[in-house]
Amino acid sequence: MSANGKQKGWKDVPIGGLILEAGSSDKYETGDWRTYRPVWDQEKCRHCMICWIYCPDSSILVREGKVVGIDYKHCKGCGICAHECPAKCIDMRLETELEAGEAEGAGAGARCCAKSGGEAGGK
Ligand code: SF4
Ligand code: SF4
Repeated sequence: MSANGKQKGWKDVPIGGLILEAGSSDKYETGDWRTYRPVWDQEKCRHCMICWIYCPDSSILVREGKVVGIDYKHCKGCGICAHECPAKCIDMRLETELEAGEAEGAGAGARCCAKSGGEAGGK
């Protein structure tokens, strides 16, 4: 639906696979695509940065050389970080299960890692 309330025609839909504006990837909140959510265990983390190196979406948030969370607005839930983590402190959990728990007020703290000023991200 367009801004003036009219139905969009096919010519109004942006062509896929094109970057129309430089440096715009931050605007695309690809976290909506996610089926599985990486849940990071701060207590077990060794801050080795392997997850940060491997994350294809620059979604591991780092501050002063330490992991501080995961940018859920952009993390697509690929699970590479969990696979590579030597301390096994990232657990891939189904979004639907976590959301159901959160709706009941028992979210297991899984939203604690939302983007909140980490310096690394690279977008
Ligand atoms: S790979 Fe695992 S242990 Fe290393 S920084 Fe990432 S979460 Fe922490
Ligand atoms: S699941 Fe892990 S590696 Fe994949 S995009 Fe999210 S934070 Fe990055």
